[in-house]
Amino acid sequence: MIPLAVKKLVFYAYKKGMVKMLGCIFCQVAAREKPATLLYEDDQCVAFQDINPKAPVHILVIPRKHISSLNDEIKDEGLLGHLLVVAGRMAREKSIDRSGFRTVINTNAEAGQTVFHLHVHVLGGRIMAWPPG
Ligand code: AMP
Ligand code: ZN
Repeated sequence: MIPLAVKKLVFYAYKKGMVKMLGCIFCQVAAREKPATLLYEDDQCVAFQDINPKAPVHILVIPRKHISSLNDEIKDEGLLGHLLVVAGRMAREKSIDRSGFRTVINTNAEAGQTVFHLHVHVLGGRIMAWPPG
């Protein structure tokens, strides 16, 4: 039997996003358990190439901790800002900052979210249509 205190500790850590979500592809990428072309990492986030790029440059910036989507209760507002700062840095590194780039966060089915670990798409290197499809 697992003691109640241990269960409570694990649940607390899970709620705080400190525990890797079982079976989450992007948690596995962040933990380097799944191969990806990493472009940047720090203590809060990881940036890597999208496996199925929708533009000449298509990078994903994800938080290390598991957050399913913007529908989650996100207390760490600074983390969201950090993801965008890193998105801008990626755009500069890929030299799409001057021509232009798009940052996208899809939330839930109708927006096209397929991976339920929050991620910022950074897309560029071609002309983008507006409004988005
Ligand atoms: P979304 O549809 O907004 O949830 O975006 C998910 C993105 O993750 C898609 O653009 C996928 O091509 C990409 N993707 C899925 N699995 C992987 C992976 N293992 N490595 C890199 N990108 C991935
Ligand atoms: Zn995850």
